Amino acid sequence: MEVTQLNAKFSQLFGQEAQGISSAPGRVNLIGEFTDYNLGYVLPCALEFKTQVLFNRRKDNHVCVYSLNYPNEYDTFSVDTAIIQGDSQWGNYIRAVAYVLKQRGFHIGGLELLITSDVPQGAGLSSSAALEVAITGAFNQAFNLGISSKDIALIGQQAENEFMHCQCGIMDQLISAQGKAGHALQIDCQDLSTQAVTIPEDLSLVIVNSNYPRKLVESEYNQRRIDCESAAKKMQVSSLRLATLARLNETKAQLSDNEFKRAYHVISENQRVIDTVNALAKNDMGALHDLLAASHNSLRNNFEVTVPATDGLVNIIANALQGKGAVRMTGGGFGGAVICLCRASDIADVKAAVAREYQARFNLTADIFVCQAGNGLAVTTFH
Ligand code: ADP
Ligand code: MG
Repeated sequence: MEVTQLNAKFSQLFGQEAQGISSAPGRVNLIGEFTDYNLGYVLPCALEFKTQVLFNRRKDNHVCVYSLNYPNEYDTFSVDTAIIQGDSQWGNYIRAVAYVLKQRGFHIGGLELLITSDVPQGAGLSSSAALEVAITGAFNQAFNLGISSKDIALIGQQAENEFMHCQCGIMDQLISAQGKAGHALQIDCQDLSTQAVTIPEDLSLVIVNSNYPRKLVESEYNQRRIDCESAAKKMQVSSLRLATLARLNETKAQLSDNEFKRAYHVISENQRVIDTVNALAKNDMGALHDLLAASHNSLRNNFEVTVPATDGLVNIIANALQGKGAVRMTGGGFGGAVICLCRASDIADVKAAVAREYQARFNLTADIFVCQAGNGLAVTTFH
């Protein structure tokens, strides 16, 4: 939505204009799935879909929030007293950020907030991280907190971990805070160092949301993390980042079947990230195809986070492209989206195949987005 339109809405709701706007994007991960919390490598890019937050300081210590995506709900809470969960599910993300800021010793006061977003929710494009990062950006600017983009990401992650009880890694928040247009970011989740990786100009990013209804996502997601941590412990390494396939095979007898498979995925996926960076540098479609296919197969067979609908979409698209593109599931799994890298001239074939086969096989309609890699968090003040 245009900023002037948003500002008019803000004035209507709060009786005065906003002082600034904080926007943070959703993201798509090209490869490196479930490696972030194992301190490995990931390769996401920020999208042009973004969450915008208009903000204004209040004289009192109340935070008052509207979201245009949830028109019938409003949340308000005080930052003076202990911040606890409220009745609004989405409002809790804002409470979560304020809770973490307070816990870290930042002095915050009241804010008026108006949120709007075109990031599809629950589609594996991380609308939650976009929201956390945009909200943290708003507090940072409104109260002059001087927080770096890296710490903004860490605060967003902590909000999701400790208040929303989703044990996600750092990838989503860091790419939302630091994304660069036209680039993916190789993130080393051990030290949070990043390297911008150019996406070849003739490579299109096609995201296909399965619209599969996600269930039990959090408990399954958190269970995978527990499996990885216990595998690392048995292999006597502090994280799977430090494990090798040789070490995994040596310790196989001590690991449960699940621990072995989860660790095998993570160790091999880290190498695939490094190989994908090289393949992008050479714009080598054959290599990209093999790497994304191997990633998807490992997520299906070893990490066990795909569902028939996402496996089916990957199949439909791979068959349509016949090696002329690369495709795999992306994001937290159990539904969500698939990412396809292909040439612009082949997008029509992808769309036609999905339209022809997906609904017929799965009784679901897929949404297709052709995207560009966009920039990360941007905060602007109006006066
Ligand atoms: P994902 O991050 O994959 O999109 P999540 O379930 O982690 O899915 O996060 C989606 C939740 O984030 C929504 O249910 C809502 O609570 C919150 N959210 C995301 N975008 C907005 C928004 N624009 N306004 C209000 N809440 C939002
Ligand atoms: Mg999320």
